Amino acid sequence: MKFKYVIVGSGLAGLTMAERIANVQGEKVLVIERRGHIGGNVYDSYNNEGILIHNYGPHIFHTNDREVYQYLSGFTKWNDFWHRVLTYVDGNLVPMPITVETINKLYNLNLDCSQVEGFLKQESVHIDELKTSRDVALSKVGQDIYEKIFETYTRKQWGVDPKELDTSVISRIPIRLNRDTRYFADKYQGMPSFGYTKMCENMVKNKNIKIMLNTDYKEIIDHIEYEKMFYTGPTDEFFDYKHGKLSYRSIRFQFDTMDKEEFQEAPVVNYPNDYDYTRITEFKKLTWQDHKKTTICKEFPSSEGEPYYPFPTKDCKAQFALYEEDMKREEKVIFLGRLAEYRYYNMDAVVRRALDIFNSIS
Ligand code: FAD
Ligand code: UDP
Repeated sequence: MKFKYVIVGSGLAGLTMAERIANVQGEKVLVIERRGHIGGNVYDSYNNEGILIHNYGPHIFHTNDREVYQYLSGFTKWNDFWHRVLTYVDGNLVPMPITVETINKLYNLNLDCSQVEGFLKQESVHIDELKTSRDVALSKVGQDIYEKIFETYTRKQWGVDPKELDTSVISRIPIRLNRDTRYFADKYQGMPSFGYTKMCENMVKNKNIKIMLNTDYKEIIDHIEYEKMFYTGPTDEFFDYKHGKLSYRSIRFQFDTMDKEEFQEAPVVNYPNDYDYTRITEFKKLTWQDHKKTTICKEFPSSEGEPYYPFPTKDCKAQFALYEEDMKREEKVIFLGRLAEYRYYNMDAVVRRALDIFNSIS
């Protein structure tokens, strides 16, 4: 078999690349995917009860990148969905991320925005140089809120203390000195009106794109002639773990369908301190589907299983740097995506990477 381009992995990185190559260059491209479906971790599907679920955990599209938003809008309409999260602390549900409402509810106060600024200033711990996720949280909200909201959640999610994780992890969560209780403040936010899988299917509607499912690329790659490969799988696996296994964090998703219309007050409720799971998602509240029953998903973080999250510590980055040297030497292969680049990318960042790489080779 002969293709100019081979793409390993049909997540958003791989599909964006395939779409651009086929539609803009008019070239033939083969996508090889180990799973039985396209979409990677954004894959969604209807369960036995007919409820649309996100098979790999809740995915909410949000970006400030107009070009990425416009690009994906070519393949889907959007529900103008604004994500909201509540977190269960001391027996109460309070808005996440931390806003004026959160502080007032946590401490039974009635402060205005500037008073909350003063409150947090008083609570915050002065740290000269922020080196870890613990430093970030303490310097923004102080010890008590750190313990209530961040410390145990982060331990559950990553299996280590926040002081082991670099600043990027807890920095993902903003602290807002206003009453904006949306989880994301990005300019463009939404949920694909007919789901992520439909959006992905629309991306690859081109006869120049051939997709091979249920196939590990290593099983067949020796039988394919190609000029360039785009690899979006785990990098350590590509190099047969020559510098050791990279650490990834996994999650066990536990789905449950209930014979009632509604389960919880928000699309996602976080449980920082109680139970072994980190959060519960109620899918109908993300997708706006009308249904008599409802499906929820509990997330149990784990060090075993599918790699979902690259591990953001100094040691892991140093280990990945060894692989990066090898990546540079692979002339026929371009590495991109959350697994291959070992980066905690969101969906928009992965699409941005693929668009930039496509532009650089065109
Ligand atoms: P992936 O989606 O991981 O795709 C890689 C593909 O390569 C997979 O399908 C895999 O099967 C395939 N593959 C790997 N090895 C091989 C091989 N040897 N042969 C063949 N195929 C192979 N982002 C957001 O913007 N908003 C969110 O709300 C959000 N929530 C998330 C929640 C969870 C629980 C997780 C895990 C991630 C979330 N993300 C979110 C991030 C988002 O999922 C990623 O940014 C995006 O899906 C990454 O796309 P990708 O193509 O790089 O990788
Ligand atoms: N986090 C936390 N408490 C929360 C929510 C998040 O401590 O209630 C921390 C935790 O370390 C998590 C990180 O902030 O891994 C990023 O959270 P985000 O919601 O962005 O995680 P994701 O959706 O990527 O799993």
